[in-house]
Amino acid sequence: MDLKSFIRDIPDFPKPGIIFKDVTPLLKNPEAFKGSIAELKKAASEWNFDIIVAPEARGFIFAAPLALEMNKGFVPIRKPGKLPYKTISKSYSLEYGNATLEMHIDAIEKGSRVLILDDVLATGGTIKAIAEMIEEAGGEVVGIITIIELSFLEPRKKLDKYRVEALIKY
Ligand code: AMP
Repeated sequence: MDLKSFIRDIPDFPKPGIIFKDVTPLLKNPEAFKGSIAELKKAASEWNFDIIVAPEARGFIFAAPLALEMNKGFVPIRKPGKLPYKTISKSYSLEYGNATLEMHIDAIEKGSRVLILDDVLATGGTIKAIAEMIEEAGGEVVGIITIIELSFLEPRKKLDKYRVEALIKY
């Protein structure tokens, strides 16, 4: 399935110079949405993992159906102040600004094999911060998978110790 045709470019969002990759046309089309989960499953089936970790908000949309489809658990990564229990946090720089993410302190058990999922891999900062939190908690990052990779931002340079898969590359 040509998933790329369901991704819309929004120039200058959320800041001038950024071309935002909008996945809402893909989500709105049931065949494309189903196709994206099927392709994620195919790629993730190569890896032996216990749990899927994904950041809000768009990471959740793809991670929940994939977790159910593959009979895995799901761990949410959230913006500060949203998770109700004790958290560990990580600050990092984004393509457009700075950010902090949080994860529940008991979300990842020691020795867990973790797949990280998000919609867009841009600079790689978000996923690197998530990987560091997982490792601090004693988990092992077995793979990283995204719907879209902005290869021209060279995110793999930051993630060179991990296996990275993306369904659509720009
Ligand atoms: P980064 O940390 O730079 O890899 O950015 C990844 C995070 O920011 C992901 O959660 C994306 O959803 C979002 N993001 C960054 N750049 C874009 C973009 N050009 N289009 C859509 N989402 C983006």
